[in-house]
Amino acid sequence: MSTLFRNRDYLRLFTAQVSGLFGTGLTTVALGLLAYELAGGAAAAVLGTALTIKMVVYVTVAPIVGAYAHRFPRRAFLTALHLVRGAIVLALPFVDQIWQIYVLIAVLQTASAAYTPTYQVIIPDILPDERDYTRALSATQLAATMETLLSPMLAAAALTVMSFHWLFVGTAIGFGVSAALVLATRIPNATAAPEGSFRERITVGVRIFAATPRLRGLLGLNLVVAAAGSVIMVNTVNYVRDTLGGTQSGVAMLLAANGFGTMIIALALPRVLDRVGARPVMLTGAATLILGLVSGIALSAAAAGDWRWAAAIAVWAIIGSGTAAILTPTGQVLRRSSQPADRPALFAAQFSLSHLAWLLTYPIAGWLTTAAGFTATWVTLAVLAAAGFTVAVRMWPRKDPEEITHLHEVGTIAPTRLGDAVRVDERFFRHTHAYVIDTDHPRWPQPNRLLATAA
Ligand SMILES: [Zn+2]
Repeated sequence: MSTLFRNRDYLRLFTAQVSGLFGTGLTTVALGLLAYELAGGAAAAVLGTALTIKMVVYVTVAPIVGAYAHRFPRRAFLTALHLVRGAIVLALPFVDQIWQIYVLIAVLQTASAAYTPTYQVIIPDILPDERDYTRALSATQLAATMETLLSPMLAAAALTVMSFHWLFVGTAIGFGVSAALVLATRIPNATAAPEGSFRERITVGVRIFAATPRLRGLLGLNLVVAAAGSVIMVNTVNYVRDTLGGTQSGVAMLLAANGFGTMIIALALPRVLDRVGARPVMLTGAATLILGLVSGIALSAAAAGDWRWAAAIAVWAIIGSGTAAILTPTGQVLRRSSQPADRPALFAAQFSLSHLAWLLTYPIAGWLTTAAGFTATWVTLAVLAAAGFTVAVRMWPRKDPEEITHLHEVGTIAPTRLGDAVRVDERFFRHTHAYVIDTDHPRWPQPNRLLATAA
């Protein structure tokens, strides 16, 4: 990591991205409180709608901007995107109608969605070294994880000393700093269109997803994370204020409990991951999230009493820890499943596919809660999470070795790419190497009798 951050331009750009991420995270917390101030008991529906708008924008705008980003002067474009977000955030405290929230969120998230693909195509120009670039992809993934776990805690700390309107001001300042950092960075303008449009890269990424068993498992895990995460993002405000009778610091406290659970696991995880690998950790995380949802259902049906605060803190922390157990190893699983050249495509596909899961769960958490209450909503989300968990367990084989002995049919692969392969009969070559889906290996190998004699 150290050589990566010795590159001044990358360091500035990365810092700007992190401060933009945290700005968005803090805005999300403040937005929940703003929605409650305007909508009261219907805040969940407002938040569900706002976050659904966010996901629609991410899934539709990011590919379009990705296709045209090379036509703009890139430094000016990124700076403008930070400034637009800062201005929108500054306008949020003046909102007094719910529709104004939706309009501002649509513009805010359009700017955020435009930022990511532009940033992703700039990084290889700044970091021509392949290894630095791979490390940068991991650093971005890590920054996004840290943001989900630290933003609520920062918000909780801030809310003990100021009203939530000041959170918006602090966030706007963060975007201003980001804009200044980007202005101070040397970013070469694109000389040509990037290789393959965003849409083509997504297609490559999705194809790798569909053909790799462990990534099909990851699809299920994305759904589990979104089902449990929607409860935290959409339902916390109403649950604290209407059911528990708490205040905005109570909301921040539950969000902080969630962040705390995430952080403990994220810190403890690297050593465990080295020992047991990603699969058991991520499946345990999914089971933990389902446990959290089921406990939440029991809590939502329980009689009133002060003990519910302690129980809610535990449930929110359990959901945080399960989320960390799935999100932390995700980057490693994606790296393991692709050639270096296909990594940007695969990370882009995970970005889109995980957002599709949230696009399903946010509206459920928002609108169903307002119509039918917490118990019915959380049962629905728990059923979705259980379905995702089942997909993950069935699709991701328990035995998932790095290297796989497999066959290549004569004539389907250039002889120079066969390496140490041996001819086993008139039709097939056989060899063993770390297996990922690429142009030479379009399908996952099936067990074959010709492999039985493999050394
Ligand atoms: Zn091969």
